[in-house]
Amino acid sequence: MPPTHDGEKQAAMDLAEDSRQKEWVHPSFVAELFRGRVRWELVSPFPVQDPEDKRIGDEYIERVREVLETHVDPEAVDRNGEVPKAALDALKAIGCFGLKIPKEYGGLGLSQINYNRVVGYMSTYCASTSVYVSSHLSIGVPQPLKLFGTEDQKKKFLPRLAKGAISAFALTEPGVGSDPAKMSTMATPSADGSYYLLNGEKLWCTNGPVAEILVVMAVTPPKIVNGKEKKQITAFVVETDTPGFEVGHVCQFMGCRGIRNGLLRFHNVKVPAENIIGKPGQGLKIALTTLNTGRLTVPGTCAAGARAALHACQDWVSERVQWGAPIGQHQSVGKMLANMVADAYAMDSIDALCCAYADEGAVDLRLEAAMAKYYCTEASWRICDDFIQVRGGRGYETAESLRKRGEKPIPAEMAMRNARISRIIEGTSEIMQLFIAREAMDTHVRRIMPILMPRPDDKDSKIKHILRAAKFYLGWYPKTWLPGDGWDARYLSSENRSHVRYVGTCAKRLARKMFHTMVKYRERLEYEQLILANFVDIGTYLFAMATCLARAERQLAESPGVQQLQDVVDLYCRNARERIEAAFSSVKHNHNTLVHEVSRAYMEGGYEWMVRDVYADFPPILDPQELALMAEAAKTASSAPAHTQSG
Ligand SMILES: Cc1cc2nc3c(=O)[nH]c(=O)nc-3n(C[C@H](O)[C@H](O)[C@H](O)COP(=O)(O)OP(=O)(O)OC[C@H]3O[C@@H](n4cnc5c(N)ncnc54)[C@H](O)[C@@H]3O)c2cc1C
Repeated sequence: MPPTHDGEKQAAMDLAEDSRQKEWVHPSFVAELFRGRVRWELVSPFPVQDPEDKRIGDEYIERVREVLETHVDPEAVDRNGEVPKAALDALKAIGCFGLKIPKEYGGLGLSQINYNRVVGYMSTYCASTSVYVSSHLSIGVPQPLKLFGTEDQKKKFLPRLAKGAISAFALTEPGVGSDPAKMSTMATPSADGSYYLLNGEKLWCTNGPVAEILVVMAVTPPKIVNGKEKKQITAFVVETDTPGFEVGHVCQFMGCRGIRNGLLRFHNVKVPAENIIGKPGQGLKIALTTLNTGRLTVPGTCAAGARAALHACQDWVSERVQWGAPIGQHQSVGKMLANMVADAYAMDSIDALCCAYADEGAVDLRLEAAMAKYYCTEASWRICDDFIQVRGGRGYETAESLRKRGEKPIPAEMAMRNARISRIIEGTSEIMQLFIAREAMDTHVRRIMPILMPRPDDKDSKIKHILRAAKFYLGWYPKTWLPGDGWDARYLSSENRSHVRYVGTCAKRLARKMFHTMVKYRERLEYEQLILANFVDIGTYLFAMATCLARAERQLAESPGVQQLQDVVDLYCRNARERIEAAFSSVKHNHNTLVHEVSRAYMEGGYEWMVRDVYADFPPILDPQELALMAEAAKTASSAPAHTQSG
């Protein structure tokens, strides 16, 4: 069912569509998978890190370890909500804020895989400390500058950023989260075009309250395209010492308590026109492209977290005896452990593959990165939950409390609080599903939509589009019924070779079903999010299976006959196949209409009877006037020096 605000929704969709990266310069394993073709050569032989590069990474991790062990007590950071300045200074001194900045601009020029390893290690030691570095390097000013900046901009800003001038990425606003079309921060050009005046608010900007430099997305004057006014969003580099900038509020969260994240205000902040990244109007595309590779750090930290959880559980499940046996021997606990191991292997493999893609630059990884983010954050949440469950009451107890009672201070609850944000930032799981689904459907959208919904500016006639589509589908569709592409694995067990064949055949089945669904729902398909999510899940599990199988083949070639490796991949693939089959079944047999009815009724107050008198109001209900007064009071308080930039 379409949502109610149709005009608004269309504007949002148009802007998102305009800002989509439409070109595919390099091949993509996942894009091909959705077309029914498994390009095994893009995953196998599975890439391994060059030993010299690994040595560089290992040595650097040792330097970071020294800094963290000297200056950071992760429990104190969690308790006090602050990463010690000495730690940040020491990290700056060893070049940590320039990890991913090329050497020619004063950075360390680490490969993506080493960068992920360093940040992954940091995040397991102290999540808040790692966020300072990853927000700065993965999405902060260095990333869009490297991708879209001019040589002058790179020379001007990158050396400063590498030395430790902390930066941040400012896209979100109080009214603008997943949908940037309603963005209201304005950048008004001066009469001679030499500068812009920035006005507005940005919310939840990580590092924002301590940043020297920001990348800010703002609305610039609209452009007329084909007689229609088009909203323009532009990316600016903004120095936070410019008059008119202030930190309105420093936010506090359930996890990552030591990060500095805030509400930023811009009041007539003067930004030189030469600080525009790319061209005016390209801002949203720049932001989204920055996130395409920027979000690769998240799978790295999730995979590292999974390894840390496995490590922390190992002794416990053997030493803790209940009902006459170590708890790990009870089948229910054993299932959690085995699934944690299998998921951790998949996360690790996906992370390694995506990093190799980023380092080699021969694969377009926008879909792979989105899947990696989506898959690893969801799996990380499952692992955190099992980690706590396996630890029982101790999983829920804080590390400090455990220590004070003389027990091993395993911070499972803190790990869970820290991990929760990953499913929200840099594209929520639901938005990742929509993003992947849009790209997955692109083959059909490009061919079928011009027939169903011709655009006024389309120069080709409907007949021409029909003939073109017919030619394509007559060639493509019959092939989706043929057996899938296999690959001649030499070291995998027969069970695992059967999973290889399944991936090949299932990709064709997926492509065929997606086409059938497109024909059935036509332009209404975009509203069938639950069906699209099933397709995304199938594609994601197939990608994960292919990645695990290819990696295992490579590992087994080096150490043949390792049964544990065959088993973990077999288990992963069996679990994945169960989920894939359930998702296929849910495309056909579901109760999505009922889900819609119940949620709609809930939104209209139909279930108020169920909650009435049971709880105190949660949160206290304030009337709009009261809220306006509170906002005004917060504004006044924010002009106090304690809340400004230094905070
Ligand atoms: C700790 C933290 C750090 C952050 N750091 C930064 C930062 O450095 N820079 C920055 O710019 N932002 C940052 N953010 C903002 C973050 O990126 C947003 O919270 C995120 O994009 C989601 O936006 P939202 O919270 O407004 O949720 P909303 O967009 O309001 O979404 C609420 C819920 O609705 C779902 N939803 C929304 N639209 C759809 C749809 N079309 N279909 C299906 N489901 C939908 C979402 O998935 C979510 O579950 C940070 C946030 C936090 C909490």
